[in-house]
Amino acid sequence: MKLQLKNISKVYENGFTAVKDFNLNVEDKEFIVFVGPSGCGKTTTLRMIAGLEEISSGELKIDGEIMNNVLSKNRDVAMVFQNYALYPHMSVYDNIAFGMKIRKLPKAEIDCKVKEVANILNIYDLLDRKPKTLSGGQRQRVAMGRAIVREPKVFLMDEPLSNLDAKLRIQMRTEIAKIYHRLQATIVYVTHDQTEAMTLGTRIVVMKEGVIQQVDTPQRLYHHPKNMFVAGFIDTQINFIDTVVKRINDKIYFHFNGIDIISPESIENVMENYVDKTVVVGLHPEAILICQNGTEFAKVDVVEHLGPEDNLYLNLSGTSIRAKVSSELNIKVGENVRFSIDTKQMHVFDKITEQAIY
Ligand code: ATP
Repeated sequence: MKLQLKNISKVYENGFTAVKDFNLNVEDKEFIVFVGPSGCGKTTTLRMIAGLEEISSGELKIDGEIMNNVLSKNRDVAMVFQNYALYPHMSVYDNIAFGMKIRKLPKAEIDCKVKEVANILNIYDLLDRKPKTLSGGQRQRVAMGRAIVREPKVFLMDEPLSNLDAKLRIQMRTEIAKIYHRLQATIVYVTHDQTEAMTLGTRIVVMKEGVIQQVDTPQRLYHHPKNMFVAGFIDTQINFIDTVVKRINDKIYFHFNGIDIISPESIENVMENYVDKTVVVGLHPEAILICQNGTEFAKVDVVEHLGPEDNLYLNLSGTSIRAKVSSELNIKVGENVRFSIDTKQMHVFDKITEQAIY
């Protein structure tokens, strides 16, 4: 299975462009996640793939065949919605069997498939129950079961976990990861939750205002974000610091609040063009290394306990910086700590374009 979206755009009837020039090739057995803030066009894109929304321009292909004008039911895709859309008057068994009954498959075959899927999803004991007697997580599994028995070329999932409480969400997230490995299917999954995206996706499409910002693996998005939006969306704790680029004795430094961060050698040449200009340095909290022989000082303003780790908010002459440390260090509010900056983990962005320089 290969899914290709080429220059896809969506302009709604009121003239609003919800998706702009979307390009993506999904390979067989990929778990692709669309992520981005509310209203960035994730659901619209998914619905265009499903055939539930007309494509304004561009080309959608499944296995090389143009799908733009193919009816939803003939596209060989199965969609799992936010609200599960189960039939309330039917048992779990009949909900899962429904599509196959419509297609008039032999009873024995239907029975075999329903039970096989019920086993995979661990809902065998629920087959006689009605949806209203099930928990959110169980309903979610039934909805997945209904999609799985169709054996579609692609599974499309629109925020399937958004109606579950925090604990169940994490549990079902693991379930979905297991199901994915078991089915070896191609999945396109929509979420606005960056943790869900990072834990599930083999590749992630980060969107903003209808435009793709970056398509990459979770690791690459974290370590090589293309712009400040991606960096901040993928790591909500990242520190963005305005610094002035200085050349001192043939070395390049990033200067702010009395601190000089030495530039990694590999970008010295590029940074020459920015001398005396302001650039934004991006530092993940783990790039702030709290250690006794650290070269810088700061006062601890706030400590947040997360169990094995603490989040620290350091006050650097008025600039607040987030750092992460082992809770064993037992750092207290008001303490002065020493730290160094791990420049290998540093990002540098153009202040005006917000694009990554490094
Ligand atoms: P969420 O995470 O909130 O579900 P999303 O990223 O899935 O958001 P979409 O539902 O794709 O976003 O909507 C994208 C944009 O298109 C939004 O600004 C929305 O208001 C707009 N939109 C959606 N449907 C229509 C419509 N029928 N007519 C006009 N604008 C629409």
